[in-house]
Amino acid sequence: VRWLGGALGDVADLVLPTDCAGCAASGARLRAGVCADCARRLWALAPAPARPTPAPAGLPHTVAVGAYDGVLRAALLAYKERGRHALAAPLGALLAEAAAGATGPDRPLVLLPVPSAAAAARQRGGDHLARLARHAGRRLRGAGWRVAVARPLRALPRADSAGLGSAQRAAAAAQAFRVRGRRAAHLRRVSAGARVVVLDDIVTTGATLAAVSAALTGVGIEVTAAAVLAATRRRVPPSG
Ligand SMILES: [Zn+2]
Repeated sequence: VRWLGGALGDVADLVLPTDCAGCAASGARLRAGVCADCARRLWALAPAPARPTPAPAGLPHTVAVGAYDGVLRAALLAYKERGRHALAAPLGALLAEAAAGATGPDRPLVLLPVPSAAAAARQRGGDHLARLARHAGRRLRGAGWRVAVARPLRALPRADSAGLGSAQRAAAAAQAFRVRGRRAAHLRRVSAGARVVVLDDIVTTGATLAAVSAALTGVGIEVTAAAVLAATRRRVPPSG
């Protein structure tokens, strides 16, 4: 199946889904995988700052499109885990809104998606955040912003972090990313005078964003902010 080009994951979109990725309604008229009602709900989300409690040291200012529930959660899971790659367009556009909300148009932006580990990317038919970053960049450029997408990081394989506490997650995350040397030099040039915005799908404890930020700081690249699609709700209410 190699001669047609593209990755196997792209083929999933050829089998046109008939159920909405947001509400599972079948027979609805879909655009980019969601029905009109769900599209309206997604566009009604207002990006807002998200800060886990406790926040790990070095967590950049983070803006989330919305809470990790409802249509946003369903659409993200369908996109990420069920090969509904057409959703990259609306989800990328939402991520662009969060990136815009975290910064401003006065300086160029460098969008930097958190990379998937190679095994996860293979399993999902591509790096899901790299694809979202391309769509987000296109959206911002269409609105007149100066945007580059950079991928200087490599994700190392790591164990599932489910069930780990925030300190354990932070320790695992800190070991999870490497900056590719030559790309770091290129990124230092590209990001001079620009704002670097790290993109991720979900913020939970903030450990991943803090780790990515630290890895970049280590090679002389300053992260301005992070933009994510969804913020998980706090499981422990803040005291006082
Ligand atoms: Zn729907």
